[in-house]
Amino acid sequence: MNIQLDEVYGPLINGVFESRDKQALPALDPATGKCLATIHYCDAQDVDKAVNAAQAAFAGWNALGQQERGRLLNALADAVEADSERLARIDAHDVGRCISEVRKDYQTAVRHYRYFASVIMAHEDHGREIPGGYALGKREPLGVCGQIIPWNAPAIMASFKLAPALAAGNTVVLKPDENASLSTLELGKHITRIFPAGVVNIVTGLGEVVGAALSQHPKVRKLSFTGSTEVGRIVARVAADRLVPATLELGGKSANIVFPDIDDLDAVVDNATFAAIHNNGQSCLAGTRLFVHDAIFETFKQKLIESFQRVSVGSPLDENARVSCLVSARQGEKVLEYIALGVQEGAELLVGGARVEVPDCPAGYFIQPTVFEVRNDMRICREEIFGPVLSLIRWSDYEQMIAQANDSEYGLAAGIYTSNLKHAMDTANRLEAGSVWINRYSNISDGTAFGGYKNSGIGREFSRETLNAYTQIKTITVQAEVPAPWFAPR
Ligand code: NAD
Repeated sequence: MNIQLDEVYGPLINGVFESRDKQALPALDPATGKCLATIHYCDAQDVDKAVNAAQAAFAGWNALGQQERGRLLNALADAVEADSERLARIDAHDVGRCISEVRKDYQTAVRHYRYFASVIMAHEDHGREIPGGYALGKREPLGVCGQIIPWNAPAIMASFKLAPALAAGNTVVLKPDENASLSTLELGKHITRIFPAGVVNIVTGLGEVVGAALSQHPKVRKLSFTGSTEVGRIVARVAADRLVPATLELGGKSANIVFPDIDDLDAVVDNATFAAIHNNGQSCLAGTRLFVHDAIFETFKQKLIESFQRVSVGSPLDENARVSCLVSARQGEKVLEYIALGVQEGAELLVGGARVEVPDCPAGYFIQPTVFEVRNDMRICREEIFGPVLSLIRWSDYEQMIAQANDSEYGLAAGIYTSNLKHAMDTANRLEAGSVWINRYSNISDGTAFGGYKNSGIGREFSRETLNAYTQIKTITVQAEVPAPWFAPR
């Protein structure tokens, strides 16, 4: 299939893709090293232009009303669905992820646009009677939203940001990651055919230039950021200075806990393998700290090693590959450094640990799915690696295991495998994590709130509650009569 990329891309501002005589950088296929297209990077002036376009489009977009905005979001869902095979292939080339996985991202993204097109209809204003009148709590959009996304799942990240913001009546300036802008720019082509000019603008380029200019722009009334905890702090500081609300979806190092009473050991091994290395391990919610009970530890460990050995590593376009190449050489080197650190720290390397050569993909950093047996205080078990590397920990004392699972700066997600409902519920209640999945890791479905405790973020996406983060309440009171005079002479 021809993925039909343009030779050159520029930002989408006020309904037009601009391409000027500015700094342009290649979008590289991380597997082959080939240049897929060239992208013009924005500067602060472009960001200003995009924000002004979004500001000018705001009143008209909001005035369309929930029903019409929902209709247009559904039209976007239809367009993305019809084009999803091509868009998925663009991401496979641009980000290096397995095609079989990226297709699922597009299914999620399409559902997400449809979910918010529907749920906005139920986001009603609330009113109540007051003596002699009525008080109304009217939900109004905030204005221009500055949205910044990472590279690991462009389809899902763009839909998480655009769908609730637009449904609620805001306009948007969206900044994709410099490593993964192509599919978002192609999404922009659908957007220009469906939405009024200026409602969605896409600014390309470097985080410290474009992301910084966007978050600091005085006309941006809401910030929403997904990415590392380190950059999330920078965005949060800017939001605090400017007194604008910020939704932050940040990093993770999630605990995945196996009890000895599981029914089907093979199924749990398989699900725990998926939890750790889907997205090539480049997933914020990856279950990268696996706590396995002592009573089944040795059998589980052996099966886990076999499961990791079975994973087929291959080119992003290989239908049978389940792990592919990391997004960039920089990310690849970072993961290899962590593997070396694990060995240095005295963690036991059980399987994997090396770079794999894949035919026709000379540039790619393909890393063998890797498991270390570790102590919870080792750096590889505390820091987010963002590659296919799992830390395995043995537990026997329940209280100690809970303390270790919670002994992390992060709190994005957690998994539990048990056939005992009481174990499941007690443990879910005690884990410091925004999502706890019992007997199926990453069990996200439309409307289930997603977001982090602790350094994994502030706010929730993916649910009806997200609409509250993209609106503010105006209270309007109505009295039937003007009250009797207060200051008039008696
Ligand atoms: P990153 O923080 O380096 O970059 C994310 C985005 O921020 C990019 O668009 C980048 O250009 C921009 N940026 C960089 N510097 C900036 C600045 N000074 N001001 C404003 N914007 C700036 O993250 P990454 O390496 O692209 O992504 C990986 C991280 O994202 C991981 O930590 C992962 O856990 C996290 N993540 C979290 C979620 C979630 O929902 N919690 C989802 C996906 C990824």
